[in-house]
Amino acid sequence: TPLTIFIAVLGKVRFSFLCLNEINLFFVLFCCPQYGIVLDAGSSHTAMYIYEWPAEKDNNTGRVEQTHSCKVKGPGISSYASDPKKAGQSLQVCMKEAERFVPSERHEETPLYLGATAGMRLLKYNSTASDQVFQAVSESLQKSPFSFQGARILSGQEEGAFGWVTVNYLDDRLKQGLETTGALDLGGASTQISFVSDAFDGSESPNNSVNFRLYGNDYNLYTHSFLCYGKDQVLRMALSGPGSISDPCFHNGYSESKNYMTLYNSPCVSKRKPVSSPADFTHVGKGNFYQCQELVKSVFDFTQCKYTQCSFNGVYQPTLQGPFGAFSAYYFVMNFLNLTDTSVPLQSVKEALARYCSTPWETQHPGIKLKYLAEYCFSGTYILTLLTEGYNFTSETFSKIRFIKQIKGSDAGWTLGYMLNLTNMIPAEAPDTPLLPHA
Ligand code: AMP
Repeated sequence: TPLTIFIAVLGKVRFSFLCLNEINLFFVLFCCPQYGIVLDAGSSHTAMYIYEWPAEKDNNTGRVEQTHSCKVKGPGISSYASDPKKAGQSLQVCMKEAERFVPSERHEETPLYLGATAGMRLLKYNSTASDQVFQAVSESLQKSPFSFQGARILSGQEEGAFGWVTVNYLDDRLKQGLETTGALDLGGASTQISFVSDAFDGSESPNNSVNFRLYGNDYNLYTHSFLCYGKDQVLRMALSGPGSISDPCFHNGYSESKNYMTLYNSPCVSKRKPVSSPADFTHVGKGNFYQCQELVKSVFDFTQCKYTQCSFNGVYQPTLQGPFGAFSAYYFVMNFLNLTDTSVPLQSVKEALARYCSTPWETQHPGIKLKYLAEYCFSGTYILTLLTEGYNFTSETFSKIRFIKQIKGSDAGWTLGYMLNLTNMIPAEAPDTPLLPHA
């Protein structure tokens, strides 16, 4: 009868509807990759990273991969203190890009994190401005279809430790319990050093100690973040020193009018501000690596150390151990200078940089962002001085540093380690360890 046909059709429709729902659920839970998004709000710029991993619980190291990255146009979010709304707006283009790269059925359960680093740590000296910037970026990210998990400032310790996790996760060193690689990170406003030291159990300087249990292995990590020792802030410090107008760290022939207010507008140098200074000064280069090295050395304090040994500024550092990966601005600068090959002896690296610094400004290649181009002599000198005088790398240990941008297609930096931690993706115990029978 028409009625039975109607009931049969209705049943079929309901059945297939149920099926579709279950199939959908099945796909969402087991089939398709999962995604996570992290925004790295650095001092000079913000970058968005999309990570992807298989849906089944991932117990293998190295299975989370970066599938896309997007550089936010404009400066870092801390530069929007006087117009916080713009900080939020600046993220929109990359967030729209994320909507295209993550399949729409995955949007809702894709976690989205924003972590800010030293630029915002410095802005925190002005807490109202910092709060307003965070409010603006949070409002902007809440509008995205992703599962926004919050925006916060990472501590220097976290930044150092998560950079170390990233490098060792991508190198497959954690699960296999291999000797780990130390992490050297150089930003615009801070710099981090992190490595496992057998001689450091945390007792001499607890603030520099981070303990992890990952895949059944215990790690005592030494980590320190030097606020104000990112390359942009050190440049300010070097410029604000005596005799800085005629600057050995810039090429001969370089001459640029700069503003004193802008130079001293940072807590890293505000105390150095002379009582009375003209509005502008002319920054003139004289291209001398050896004099530049002396100038850069003057920003480190080597006079005090209450521990058995220190790096600089009275900060404890155990003896360097193991290989190191150096990323972020370490890579940008050394790559530009063609100095990433650390099988070249340290002395020859210095000589090559000295030759580069002495080349006239007029002969520099156009086409590269002018600010970066003008600063490579300074930045290279700062990097070598920080590594050798600051952290005590010798000609022998310098050869154990790899300057890296990416490992297996994922950027080296704190973001991946941060996400792995927040999504509980690295188990404390080795997943395949059979339980020991009770005695
Ligand atoms: P942050 O924004 O704190 O992560 O710092 C990144 C640092 O790298 C800043 O000092 C930037 O000026 C610098 N940087 C980024 N790209 C380049 C590049 N291509 N060449 C030189 N320095 C760069």
